[in-house]
Amino acid sequence: MSEAVKKIQELLKLPQKLCNMCGKCCQIATFKSGLSYEQILELIENPESEPLQVEGAKDFLAIFMPCYSHETVKEIEPDFYERVMKQVGKPEMSFFRCKYIGENGGCLIHEDRPTLCRIYPVPHERTMFFPGCGFEKQSIENWNKIQEIVTELKEKQSRISQQINETKNNQTI
Ligand code: SF4
Ligand code: SF4
Repeated sequence: MSEAVKKIQELLKLPQKLCNMCGKCCQIATFKSGLSYEQILELIENPESEPLQVEGAKDFLAIFMPCYSHETVKEIEPDFYERVMKQVGKPEMSFFRCKYIGENGGCLIHEDRPTLCRIYPVPHERTMFFPGCGFEKQSIENWNKIQEIVTELKEKQSRISQQINETKNNQTI
């Protein structure tokens, strides 16, 4: 494995100590780039869907259920709602709540929580954060570093291709 790939893998893992345990991401969640519950079911049932996407959708619906209207989210988390609408802006999108939130707001299955909870949040330009989420700043920094590494790799690849082409051209002269 190249150093660049190792570095990207490291940057994709955010330190769990950054979580301030506010629990908001368990209480209100969105799926992918703002799919509705019906669209997620369609994705799962469509034989042409990417298997990885189907697995992700199944894992998500194993714990999250559609729960809130847009009006409710706008009322209880106005800043988050504004962010979501700015970033995704789909009137048909659904907002979900985890089935395993206990009465005190904690996770009822903490020891056995699924992988998607354990790896959340993964740095990406589409990852949406609640205002005040302890991961946001680091996630953005890591995503920018990943982009820099990817750009460097592409430039390196382009230089190598150019050198190969030049060598081939010289050989045919
Ligand atoms: S399973 Fe637990 S950690 Fe995962 S979303 Fe539900 S309450 Fe949160
Ligand atoms: S919103 Fe962010 S800080 Fe709050 S529990 Fe979720 S990951 Fe942790």
